[in-house]
Amino acid sequence: MTPEEFRTYGKQVVDWIADYLESVEQYPVRAPVAPGEVRAALPAHPPERGEPFEAVLADLDRVVLPGITHWQHPSFFAYFPANASGPAVLGDLLSSGLGVQGMLWATSPACTELETVVVDWLAELLGLPERFRTDAHGGGVIQDSASSAAVVAVLAARQRAGEGRHRMYVSSQTHSSLEKAARVTGVGAENVRVVDVDPQTLAMDPEHLDRLIREDRAAGCVPTLVCATIGTTSTTAVDPVRRIGEVCRDHGVWLHVDAAYAGVAAVCPELRWCNDGVAEYADSYVTNPHKWLLTNFDCSVLWLGDRAPMVEALSILPEYLRNAATSSGEVIDYRDWQVPLGRRFRALKLWAVIRWYGAEGLRAHVRRCVELADGFAEMVAGDPRFELDPHHPFGLVCFRPLWPDASAAEADAATMELMERLNDSGELFLSHTKVRGHVVLRLAVGSPATEAKHVEAAWRRIVKEYEAVLANPR
Ligand SMILES: *Cc1c(COP(=O)(O)O)cnc(C)c1O
Repeated sequence: MTPEEFRTYGKQVVDWIADYLESVEQYPVRAPVAPGEVRAALPAHPPERGEPFEAVLADLDRVVLPGITHWQHPSFFAYFPANASGPAVLGDLLSSGLGVQGMLWATSPACTELETVVVDWLAELLGLPERFRTDAHGGGVIQDSASSAAVVAVLAARQRAGEGRHRMYVSSQTHSSLEKAARVTGVGAENVRVVDVDPQTLAMDPEHLDRLIREDRAAGCVPTLVCATIGTTSTTAVDPVRRIGEVCRDHGVWLHVDAAYAGVAAVCPELRWCNDGVAEYADSYVTNPHKWLLTNFDCSVLWLGDRAPMVEALSILPEYLRNAATSSGEVIDYRDWQVPLGRRFRALKLWAVIRWYGAEGLRAHVRRCVELADGFAEMVAGDPRFELDPHHPFGLVCFRPLWPDASAAEADAATMELMERLNDSGELFLSHTKVRGHVVLRLAVGSPATEAKHVEAAWRRIVKEYEAVLANPR
């Protein structure tokens, strides 16, 4: 493709995206396709001869679009958001256009240095501690996901802890990526201890954590890492980071804080309470701009108070990567801050987002989502046929319909039936979880396209379908 041809098709693609975003509301939120349908519509074999790009665009409309679940739809409420925004798409396009592979400072100095500046900016915007900034011993790095960040945190913690039978501590509400990290790093799932949670708030119990660590130490194990979560995936429960941090400090255990979804809420000063204890106690902290901060997937930022154990754990220097800049010790090579060697120029999209919206615009986005979620919660609270989980500090609201005279199992089945009917309607998309013995529904507000009218329509639809399920159960 010549630059001239690229110009022509590039404009068509940008127009296509703009048209898509303008009309996204007209599509069913969840893709209404059966397993194998998309695959069956595609040729089984690759073309021998090149095809015109028009053919690709035509199949995009014909085959791909019907198989898309529309994450940018204003009535997408199922999972935590995966925000896309104009500046992020354009920043990502520029990254693709430059085609840089930023494994070393020397393979593109701007790729490294812009990332350093942008993660320091984000630390400042979120009110994270000075020691997470790259100037001192710490620093931030963009990873592909919070799951990868967890692997890096476990490797760093293990490096600091030294040899022995390593033990990790999570709660029943911790994201599954921590168990995966235990498996991947060789700590082993059998060395992951599950700390009790408060049955009401679902937050980790620091006293039980303390007992487990003492027990393990007495048994000759090496307590290595505790993961505290700010905004759990299931219900946005918030672990008591400060008290957990005190326990970690007493025992010299690494504290990793997983704030993948909720951490970005700290752009708003009134929501910064959620990071209480992070400044004093966290050894590592992760949040995902690719969820709720308007930055297309993938962009997950991991910060460390001390980067040394991570670099010790991950640095390998084969001859073919030796270069003067690395040897001088004056530059950062982010390949030592992640599992893969190669890396994309992700900082461009985060930079574009922060510059386009400014701190003010980012705050307005988060605030608007929290307000819409609060508005939805109020509607649920006002209807005695539903039970609201009163804990909804961010964009997620958990609630459940009440089914008169139903057993617990029948009630759960009816709730699932209600959700399936709603999701089949294509008008909105919800998800569920199971907490405190019940299936509950999750409605997560997070899209920049969502307005009050969408949340109100969702509530009306839920009530209508609830009445239909009551009248006509399966
Ligand atoms: C979404 C989420 C993750 C996983 O994030 P990825 O970036 O997809 O790996 C981890 N922890 C929490 C609390 C999450 O909500």
